[in-house]
Amino acid sequence: MNGLGTLDAWVGRTIGIGGLPTRDDLDAYQLRSLNETLATARARSPFYRSLAGWPEPGQIADLGDISLFPLTTAADLGRGEPSLVALPLRDAVRLVTIPTTGTSGPQKRLFFTEEDIEATVAYFEHGMATIVRPGSCVAVAFPAERPDSVGDLLMRGLARLGAFPVALPVDGSLETLVGALRELQPAAIAGMPVTLGAAARRMSADGGPPLRIETALVSADSVSPSFRAALAVIWGAEVFEHWGMTETGYGGALACEAHDGLHIRETDLYVEIVDADTGRALPPGRVGEVVITTLRRRGLPLIRYRTGDSGSLVEDPCRCGSVLRRLRLGGRMGDPSPREEGRLLLPEGLDDAIFAVDGVVDFMVKLKSGRQPRLTVEIVTLASGTVDEVRSVLLAHPTIGPALRSAEVDIAVETASGPSPPLCRKRRVLEDMRND
Ligand SMILES: [Zn+2]
Repeated sequence: MNGLGTLDAWVGRTIGIGGLPTRDDLDAYQLRSLNETLATARARSPFYRSLAGWPEPGQIADLGDISLFPLTTAADLGRGEPSLVALPLRDAVRLVTIPTTGTSGPQKRLFFTEEDIEATVAYFEHGMATIVRPGSCVAVAFPAERPDSVGDLLMRGLARLGAFPVALPVDGSLETLVGALRELQPAAIAGMPVTLGAAARRMSADGGPPLRIETALVSADSVSPSFRAALAVIWGAEVFEHWGMTETGYGGALACEAHDGLHIRETDLYVEIVDADTGRALPPGRVGEVVITTLRRRGLPLIRYRTGDSGSLVEDPCRCGSVLRRLRLGGRMGDPSPREEGRLLLPEGLDDAIFAVDGVVDFMVKLKSGRQPRLTVEIVTLASGTVDEVRSVLLAHPTIGPALRSAEVDIAVETASGPSPPLCRKRRVLEDMRND
């Protein structure tokens, strides 16, 4: 454990409390901020002004009453008119277009103001200060060349806390990445699971000098126990999970030394969990879709935005002492199966089972629906014999094996062909090819 403390003192200063905030302080700040967001959005954004089902007078007396307002979706971010934007576009310092994954749908467009960017850099500074020490070298395995990209903002936050961030070459080969890491010998590394997993497994397989990295921050994708174990064995790294997406302003929630849920960035986000089918708000402990409302964003406020990620809120106080609410990611929403129309979810544990096979650095799962559904697992591997091992691991798995058989899904495991995939991207999960 690093034991570098919690985010609470910074949160207290940010919300205008002298000293450590109590839960009541945070609830009062969030209620006030939610009401400001609701008022600004309704007054200035054509989209929210025209949104049906907006309860009047548009203010809430209790945090839970936010659930009376309509949910918004990725499709709302894609449409041009009416615009969600609540400030003139000339106030944007960064416009982001997110390509749509999956079969169809418009691209999502977001914009950030100077204040939004500053809020994210400050969050990265104080968030990273809980897991890395000033003076330590931190390798950043995100693309960082573009100003205000996630890598750039993380580098700026790290520099502010007194660490020495170095951007790794993530647009080339795995060998280049591994070479740079051995040369740098960082105390900590930050990146996506695919990138870090591939680098660690390549290092363990190539017979070169071992590397010790104290801390690994993994972001932007799910982290399985076998991934965590691989990084602990190969680098000796303690893995800290971060959850965030462009919609959350990159930063969203961060693990602490207790590793029991991720503390939410409550200065900027109000998080709810809703039933993915009915949209009804769920109590702590219940798994559903993660829904966010932004608290300080004046340019493009998001109100009850459905992230598409699943998770639950944790009610018990955290062992680390922080009063920030926690989000536990993952878990099943409802009772999905790989064949369910329109909802293509990873069978619980599939990720963990595949990554547990030594040599696997990446994989993609494709589901072809229709009369003869077929589940194809394409793996990127450093070792021979991995294909057979992945196939037998899946069929022998206590929950996945029977699920695959009872769902009458054909399973094929193949080694990915063609050039090696980009090092920096989300692990691709189930893509319905719908080409029957
Ligand atoms: Zn904690």
